[in-house]
Order: sequence, then structure tokens, then C-alpha cells
Amino acid sequence: MSAPKVLIVGAGPTGLTAALELARRGIMPVVIEKRKTGSNLSRAVGILPRSMNLLTPSGVAKTIRSEAIPIQRALFHKRGRPIASIKLNTFKGPNKRLFGLPQDRTETHLYDAFCALGGKVNYGAELLSLSQNDTGISVSILGKAFRFDTVIGADGVNSTVRDALHIPFIGYELPELWSIADVEVKSWKAPRAFQGFLLDDGGVVVVVPLAKNRFRVIANRPHALPALPVPMNIRHINRIGNFKVSVRQAENYQVGRVFLAGDAAHCHSPIGGRGMNLGIADAVDLAERIVTDTTDGYHDARHPVGKKTIKQSERARHVITSTHPALRLLLRTLLRTAHRSPLLQRRFAKVVLDL
Ligand SMILES: Cc1cc2nc3c(=O)[nH]c(=O)nc-3n(C[C@H](O)[C@H](O)[C@H](O)COP(=O)(O)OP(=O)(O)OC[C@H]3O[C@@H](n4cnc5c(N)ncnc54)[C@H](O)[C@@H]3O)c2cc1C
Repeated sequence: MSAPKVLIVGAGPTGLTAALELARRGIMPVVIEKRKTGSNLSRAVGILPRSMNLLTPSGVAKTIRSEAIPIQRALFHKRGRPIASIKLNTFKGPNKRLFGLPQDRTETHLYDAFCALGGKVNYGAELLSLSQNDTGISVSILGKAFRFDTVIGADGVNSTVRDALHIPFIGYELPELWSIADVEVKSWKAPRAFQGFLLDDGGVVVVVPLAKNRFRVIANRPHALPALPVPMNIRHINRIGNFKVSVRQAENYQVGRVFLAGDAAHCHSPIGGRGMNLGIADAVDLAERIVTDTTDGYHDARHPVGKKTIKQSERARHVITSTHPALRLLLRTLLRTAHRSPLLQRRFAKVVLDL
């Protein structure tokens, strides 16, 4: 049997992982990306142990480890005052850490590994339409028609592939405006810690290391930097912006030989830092199924995982951003107790690292 002709739509972390995994296993896909060049956005920072394990056979985990910041602990503050410090680096094994790396650098490592196998990303190529029948899938790219046996829609939250398949993307959008800042600082206390600042009004500001003296500040407020309740010795602001959070999941991850993976299939708040990691896991699973011709089980395997992740992420968001005084007191008490108990610290770290 000859290898299927595979098209991957989108060269974000999901599409690049799928491309790399297929290429590594002998199927060279066609990859199209509507952006003109690689991304320079540092959206996802946290890379979890599970993703590192999945990226080990391709060698990408090793290159990520050589550049990323291993995050040592999570520090929580009530407004500006520290209330808990929780160790995240107590587990044995090179991958059992939370690694901090800007998303564009993770994408560069995936892209380089794919290109090293002879792969190519066609930048500036946008999928315009898609239809399938018993003999294959017809797509229109930049106004030209092409045929493929299999298509992976890794084209993000506003997926053209999902729309072409008329798959409902069920969920809701959060009312508040979130903000993000990518800053370079002269100095910052605890440069290898994830820091969460709980505000009185249900606000939360998170500071995560991206690189040496470079940090991501993210808040469920319109302006992340003024919302930070402690001074930050900022030398340069690389990027500042706003975004809305949608919490949604595609009703179906596959129709015939067309599949959805990553944000095209699911999206949720950045609390918990799961989005990119979930996309990487979808991509590895799907690539394996394409190689072994077992794609029929893809939806049944990945849809429940996406559902569970969305549920956990929403539960964490509700607790962290609640304005209810009793819930806020409970959260602070839990964090203070965890601070004092090595056993609870370990359990908390397992939840954060998804171990
Ligand atoms: C502020 C912020 C912080 C985050 N932090 C984290 C974190 O710490 N950890 C984590 O795991 N996740 C995090 N996420 C989520 C993470 O960024 C996403 O889950 C991840 O980017 C999804 O990857 P993807 O490849 O599925 O989609 P995308 O990254 O959106 O890539 C889709 C690609 O498809 C291309 N495309 C779209 N339509 C077409 C078309 N018709 N034809 C061709 N190309 C097309 C797009 O240009 C894009 O490059 C964060 C997100 C945000 C916004």
C-alpha cells in the first residue's frame, strides 16, 4: 500500500508536531500556513513533562531543554504579599519539570527538526475551501485545486477546516478582556519561579519566566502591567496586547479522512497552561494513527481528553478568579497549608505538572 497523501493546514505547534511525527515515520506531509513567515508570538510558555516525553523520540525535547528555563517553584501572593511557595522541581527525570519557553521558540525547534528530515512549510498559502467524497479530499489553496487522501486541520481557533466540515464548536466566550505583556527587566525576584498574584476583586496576574531577564505578565484585566501589585524594574516592553478567552470544543474531531487537532478542536483559558500541550498530544496521537492506519479511533481517544482538560481548566479559573469571600479564603488557606506541608506540595506539583 502506498503512503497516504497528507495535507496539514496550519504551522502552529500542533501542525508542526504532526508534520514532524509523520515525517519521522516515513510519511512526508504537505504543510500550508497562511502567515507569510514563522510566528514571533510568545503565547504558550509552559511545556509540561508529558509533551517533553512525546517530543523525546524526535530529539526536540533535548533542544527545548538546552534553551528553556526549568521553573523551580510556584509563588503565590495575596496582592503583593507572599503567602505560599511550592516546589515544582522535586521529581526525578530530565523531563519531569515545567519548562518555560516562548511559543515561537518551541515552534522553531519543531520546524528545524521537520526541515532536517527534508520537510518544508509553505508559508503564505491559505486554505480557502475543502470538500470530500469517497475518492478523496478536494481543497482550494490560493485559488488552485488539489487532492489529498487525508487532511489535518491544525488551523487554530477560527479553523477553516472545521467550518468547511460544518462541525459545531460548542461553548462560550468569557466576558472580560485579558491582557498580556512580554517584558525585559533589569532584575526580578525569583527569576525561575512562576508567580501568581491574587487580587481582592477576583483579579489574577501571573508572571512567568520566558528567558534570562525576560518575563510574561498575563492578567484577566485589560492592562496587565498596571494590575501587577508589585513594582517591576522594566527595561523594555517587547509586546503588549489584549485577548478574549473562548471556552469551546468541537463536537466531532473527525469526519471521514479529515481531522481536527489543537486549538481547532478545543480552546480554553490560559490558566493551567494546557492549550499547546494538548495540541502536541493530539498531533502525536493522530500521526501515529495515520502511520498505523488506525484513524477510526481518533475522536474517541482525544475528545474525552480535551473535555477533561477544559473542565479542569475551567474549575481552576472559577476558584482562582472567584469574588466569593468564602472561596477566596478557602483558596488562600489551601495555599498556606500546602506551603507548610511537603506532602501537599508534592500533590500540588503533580497537578501543575499533570503527572
Ligand atoms: C496569552 C496566551 C497564553 C497561553 N499560554 C499557554 C501556556 O502557557 N501553555 C499552553 O499549553 N498553552 C498556552 N496558550 C495556548 C496556546 O497558545 C495554543 O493552545 C496553541 O497556540 C495552539 O496551537 P495550534 O497549533 O493548535 O494553533 P495556532 O497556534 O493558533 O496555529 C494555527 C495556525 O494555523 C494557521 N492558519 C489558520 N487558518 C489557516 C488557513 N485557512 N490556511 C492556512 N493556515 C491557516 C494560523 O496562521 C496559525 O499559524 C496560551 C494562549 C494565549 C493566547
